Amino acid sequence: MRSISIFGATGSIGVNTVDLIARQGGAEAYRTVALTGGRNIARLAEQARALRAEVAVTSEDDLYAELKDALAGSGIAVAAGRAALLEAADRPADWTMSAIVGAAGLAPGFRALRHGGTLALANKESLVAAGPLLMAEAARHGATILPVDSEHSAVFQALVGEDMAAVERIIITASGGPFRDWPLARLAAATVAEARAHPNWSMGLRISIDSASMFNKALELIETREYFGVDPARIEAVVHPQSIVHALVGFSDGGLMAHMGPADMRHAIGYALNWPGRREVPVARLDLAAIAQLTFEAPDEVRFPALALARAVMRTRGLSGAAFNAAKETALDAFLEGRLGFLAMAEVTQDTLARLGGALTSDPDSLDCVLDMDHLARRTAREIIAARG
Ligand code: NDP
Ligand code: MG
Repeated sequence: MRSISIFGATGSIGVNTVDLIARQGGAEAYRTVALTGGRNIARLAEQARALRAEVAVTSEDDLYAELKDALAGSGIAVAAGRAALLEAADRPADWTMSAIVGAAGLAPGFRALRHGGTLALANKESLVAAGPLLMAEAARHGATILPVDSEHSAVFQALVGEDMAAVERIIITASGGPFRDWPLARLAAATVAEARAHPNWSMGLRISIDSASMFNKALELIETREYFGVDPARIEAVVHPQSIVHALVGFSDGGLMAHMGPADMRHAIGYALNWPGRREVPVARLDLAAIAQLTFEAPDEVRFPALALARAVMRTRGLSGAAFNAAKETALDAFLEGRLGFLAMAEVTQDTLARLGGALTSDPDSLDCVLDMDHLARRTAREIIAARG
């Protein structure tokens, strides 16, 4: 029986993962080792009971008693806190979903690679902040990392049976988000409610805002560079409002392989779960005649400066991805709390990178080194935000 663990089970990706596993036989077909969540104890307990998990872990120390009560009499072990998340990752599983949001997902993902199994990677922050280390850690332990981000799953699928030497370019698409047509002046005053209303995808709060600001696409450009090992000059983002084509791979003979599918993360999660095979996934089937038109346009890097910042990070590499992600997360916190304007998120991120300057160019030799930069960049970004008043 295949064993699985899900980190971030209670989130948007996590719930879809649990749903697919339940449809593929649930506890009868899989041995669930660990399920982890954050504050949503009721959902975590329900999932742990349904999949008969060995251990359920909340990242929040203060919620230990609540989780213990919720799972009383179930025989499921309960733990809480950051150390407990790492201990859960130390329990071997054949397949692990990494779907914690943000830099908090780095350490558990790294630990899970030690078993040499498969890591389904939704947590793109891992590749942005620590791409070379993560890929090296996987290689050292004979582990497989499979992309779950829809664009990267699409590229991965378009590359099956292909020779990387023949790849000329990789194009990932962006819906353009809810603000695709908004002028700069209106963007400056955009609210959280407006920014979270994604036109095509249903996702967690943070990634929805990152989609509106194109920070998500910026992270994904870096993710593409790190996962596929392609020169940044060969990686493009194109705005495609219908979100039907998720990515394209261009080959040296002029051919372009496009991956199309509905805007439903269960496709990419299902692919990672069943790879190298495929199984039925209950997503809508595309009606191409009803869709009628697929359109593409160049992204506007003036209104969406995150993309240019990503280009700079891809040139510098070293610790710049860790700083970029941490500054972005800090600016996003401030935007969510109403302390920072929508466009100011990119300004704060840019100023943080500028202030850290030379410290960003060295290559980290350990995850601790990356996490130190993460903390330094958060502190720097907070100072920059405070100084703006
Ligand atoms: P959600 O916010 O919906 O879920 C995040 C999960 O992480 C929840 O289980 C949450 O627990 C848990 N969590 C939050 N903070 C912490 C913490 N500090 N320590 C440990 N666990 C924590 O996010 P998404 O599911 O949208 O995204 C998850 C990851 O997948 C992100 O990296 C995102 O970029 C990526 N991704 C998401 C896509 C999507 O469609 N949603 C598409 C492509 C990539 P709780 O809710 O219980 O507090
Ligand atoms: Mg994506």
